[in-house]
Amino acid sequence: MSRTRIYSEVDFTKDGKQSAFLRLPHSVHRSAYGWLPMPITCIKNGKGPTVLLVSGNHGDEYEGQVTLMKLTRRLQADDVKGRIIILSAANYPAAMAGMRTSPIDQGNLNRTFPGNPDGGPTAMIAHFIESVLLPMADVTVDLHSGGSSLMYIPSALARRAKSKADRANTIKLMEVFGAPVSMLIDAPQGEDRTLTGGAERVGVLHMGTELGGSGTVTPGALAVAEKGTARLLDHFGVLRKPLHNEKSGKTRLVVVAGPSYYTYAPDNGLFEPYVELGDDVRAGQAAGAVHFPDTPWREPTIAHFERDGVVVCKRIPGRTERGDCLFHLGSDYSEK
Ligand code: CA
Repeated sequence: MSRTRIYSEVDFTKDGKQSAFLRLPHSVHRSAYGWLPMPITCIKNGKGPTVLLVSGNHGDEYEGQVTLMKLTRRLQADDVKGRIIILSAANYPAAMAGMRTSPIDQGNLNRTFPGNPDGGPTAMIAHFIESVLLPMADVTVDLHSGGSSLMYIPSALARRAKSKADRANTIKLMEVFGAPVSMLIDAPQGEDRTLTGGAERVGVLHMGTELGGSGTVTPGALAVAEKGTARLLDHFGVLRKPLHNEKSGKTRLVVVAGPSYYTYAPDNGLFEPYVELGDDVRAGQAAGAVHFPDTPWREPTIAHFERDGVVVCKRIPGRTERGDCLFHLGSDYSEK
């Protein structure tokens, strides 16, 4: 495979704070020699770890983007010991359009890793992150949320590592982040095609989030994101002094261990949820009804939970189609 075709205006080896663009070649009718300007910031000050912060991997997940834009403006070289790289609009065309996927090539960045330098814009971005940015990093944090169609209890998430030592590392990161819920996931959506998959291939410590969603930003979710991200930077040893001194609250550690944790729409129609985020539910319990506006005299189809758990994620739009995720659960988890 060839090298990246994305040119960085930022010199990642240089000390100081640089904010500029990654130039993604994009030759189109209105601009023969044009490029897409992907904003990136590199703040480097001497020796220390490299932390890669990412948001806008899905363009309609805004809490992380706001958090990293504010951090981009706040952090100066004097604050840093090592290097912080901030990519706040990772799938730039999707972020500009406020969409999960790119309007240029319909690419879902978090289903495109390890990417391809000879592919469309989304594949080129994935390849740049996995072949250029991740190899520079000791740790990466990818700030997601539920996007347009889902809403989460503000959460941290990480894969449930096989070894106890690796699990302890990721649980520690989630405890430092301090979201109300922390999810260990066995079979992640997107499998190894995600930035997490890339981080595992490159051998970079990784944590993600699901901060909220429904295409909104709330003060509550933003506070979780901003305070948690600042605590993580301090924990990684990349700050000269903490950005704040607020300790993390207690997080509810849960596991999401496969398909039985997800409830899907059994039919096409209008979704009536029976439960809310944070509710504890039982296997077999009715989760919601799908009504049929075209035949209102027809009895609705009822969706059921397959297992016990706490509702950590729910569908937002009222209209639904068979196969849409309506809810997903977590179940309380302890290493002991
Ligand atoms: Ca996402």
